[in-house]
Amino acid sequence: MAELQQPEFVYMGGQLRAWQDAKLHVGCEALTRGLNVYEGLKGYWQADGQFGVVMLKRHYERLQRSSRLLHIPCDWTYEAYESAVLTLMARLLRPGSDMWARTTLFVVEGHWGEGTVADLVITAYHQSKQPPAPLSLGVSTWRRSSDVALPARIKTSSNYQVGRLARIEGRARGCQDMVLLNESGRVAETTGACILVVRNGTVYTPPSTEGALESITLDLVESFAISMGIPFVRRQIDRTELLIADEIAICGTLAELPTVRSIDGLPLPEQTPILSALQTRYLNAVRGVDPHPAVQLTRVDGSSKKKGVPDSVPSIP
Ligand code: PMP
Repeated sequence: MAELQQPEFVYMGGQLRAWQDAKLHVGCEALTRGLNVYEGLKGYWQADGQFGVVMLKRHYERLQRSSRLLHIPCDWTYEAYESAVLTLMARLLRPGSDMWARTTLFVVEGHWGEGTVADLVITAYHQSKQPPAPLSLGVSTWRRSSDVALPARIKTSSNYQVGRLARIEGRARGCQDMVLLNESGRVAETTGACILVVRNGTVYTPPSTEGALESITLDLVESFAISMGIPFVRRQIDRTELLIADEIAICGTLAELPTVRSIDGLPLPEQTPILSALQTRYLNAVRGVDPHPAVQLTRVDGSSKKKGVPDSVPSIP
């Protein structure tokens, strides 16, 4: 079973706090109604020895869109948000591990929609530097809810309830992740990533109007595909297209870009030339090995990081 890491520090209430002191009150809306919006950020050790966080500004902008849609106040300027993320990451940085951080606006005061106050809470976790391995994927019987029920284009914890059920279903069927179809029975996304399907040399992905998060990684992959001369098209994808695809991969900040080896137990072609090339391009860009103009990296000053800690703690937060 994957255990939640408990790094020494959390950012909360405008400052770093010890992990065990980062608490929310049981009566707050963040707990009683799960009221929050959040972002998952990835930071990588760079080829030049520095540490860089990927697309921080884009994540901030999506956090703002999510908070606007759910009427959760977001009083943080970009500069304050960036400073909070960098402060925590700099404190927790380790030479042998990349990091993933969750920046959450929790509603800590107010009742339902009225008079709400949110606090920015940031937790960050150490990550293995290993590239992602090919996955077995299934198609869930659970569905993405419609845009007028739970809007999938933004990031809020409620959207992950159905993903959790799909993952539990997938485990029983030997699948490492699951595709969620939308209410029309077409492909939306997986439980925590978007989906890429190759047919006859073209990469297809469903637009967010099909019930997918407005993914930042997907925009990067599109930019790489354009630079590499690979046709990239956002269009509706039928369920059966998954079964006859030439290649499939998923993509997201945490997932990165793993290829898929089977779908509902049916093997896909072993060779994945297009998506493997995109995966390599992606990893080389976010690690600064082969920079790409679409990838914005914000440097973390690691001078305050702790010394003498073990090198690598791979785990899934
Ligand atoms: N869909 C879902 C449900 C996700 O949780 C994620 C991860 N944030 C993605 C797609 C990919 O989004 P992004 O590329 O912005 O990380």
